[in-house]
Amino acid sequence: MIRTYKCRTKISRAGHSRLDQVLRLSAELYNAGLESRIDCYKKTGKSRSYFDQCKELTEVRAEIQEFKDISAILFRGVLSRLDKAYKRFFTHGGFPRFKSSHRWRSIEVNDQCGNMLKREGNKTVLRIKGLPRIEVKTSRELPPNGLLRAIRITRKALRTEVALSYEVERTEPVAEITNPVGIDMGITKRLTLSDGKTVEKRVINRSEIIRLQRSVSRKKKESNNWKKAVLLLAREWQRISDKERDYLHRLSAEIVKMYDLIVVEKLRTKNMVRNSKLARSIHEQSWGKLITLLNEKAESAGVRVVEVDPRGTSQECSGCGATVKKSLSVRTHRCECGVVMDRDVNAAINILHRGISIAGGKLDLESRMVGRMEMKRAEVGPVRPGTVYGVVNSST
Ligand SMILES: [Zn+2]
Repeated sequence: MIRTYKCRTKISRAGHSRLDQVLRLSAELYNAGLESRIDCYKKTGKSRSYFDQCKELTEVRAEIQEFKDISAILFRGVLSRLDKAYKRFFTHGGFPRFKSSHRWRSIEVNDQCGNMLKREGNKTVLRIKGLPRIEVKTSRELPPNGLLRAIRITRKALRTEVALSYEVERTEPVAEITNPVGIDMGITKRLTLSDGKTVEKRVINRSEIIRLQRSVSRKKKESNNWKKAVLLLAREWQRISDKERDYLHRLSAEIVKMYDLIVVEKLRTKNMVRNSKLARSIHEQSWGKLITLLNEKAESAGVRVVEVDPRGTSQECSGCGATVKKSLSVRTHRCECGVVMDRDVNAAINILHRGISIAGGKLDLESRMVGRMEMKRAEVGPVRPGTVYGVVNSST
């Protein structure tokens, strides 16, 4: 199983221009390789393979110092990209095109990656012959036993990113489930867990965005000052989305650590976003992203994630299964059977029940769980509105 870690970087000013130089040479090599393939085909009717081109590369590197100074592995990555583009042409059509050098934005390494990433004190540094020193900022821990399979360095509008792809072992799911959880994703609270824990809604502070937006609109379009203001605005958006991403990583890691079966709602985001009033808030909560992260992290931790149809979970009584109709403004679930609890906790328990009936089979989970849940319900309900157990405190 491959897991990719996207990381921010720290590169000196001189390093950046060096990087640009390598990108330019890469584009040149790609174009030369493409031309050579076309020529060869015209003259002999045969196509040139990746290996033929690697041989050519050796000759080029022997003659031209600029290429000699840079690790051959980087250029083999370029040739392999060309090779892939060719193979794609035969299966999907679309003949490979020549690339203009300023649009060549990434460097790929697929070989001997393990030797290139080094620890220097408490820093993680990428050291590749011909490239500047690239300090890699890891926001989460890299897998200690993972095999580094690929490195991709990408030059983006605002910064340079490094993606590290590790091959990690899949952990077999635990056979016996002892600590499952159902998660209700809501509008008023971000998450409500079936054991009563809640994660508060994230409120984005938009004042800076609004200020920068205003500053953009006051400036003359396409002027230098306008361009500067646009860049500042783009940076602010980037900052907000980075923060959100980090937060979702921490939140999902925390949840995976606490439970061994995680039941979530299968989302129908497309339909939901059509309702324009809710759209923004749903978008901000980034549900889909969270589920993806839960799945990813669960897989390597041997935790199961089950997605269930959430229809009716807020109306159903988690104690007796009766339907108790209530509008969105009613925050407490009250049933004739005696169950009184927070509306979202009730929904989360229903979600958990549905997940258990899917996950079960091997084990007699159902009967054991019902007993467990009854005990839990007594402990939990009714939850005080607004109680923050805070799995992780929102940092925004
Ligand atoms: Zn009931």
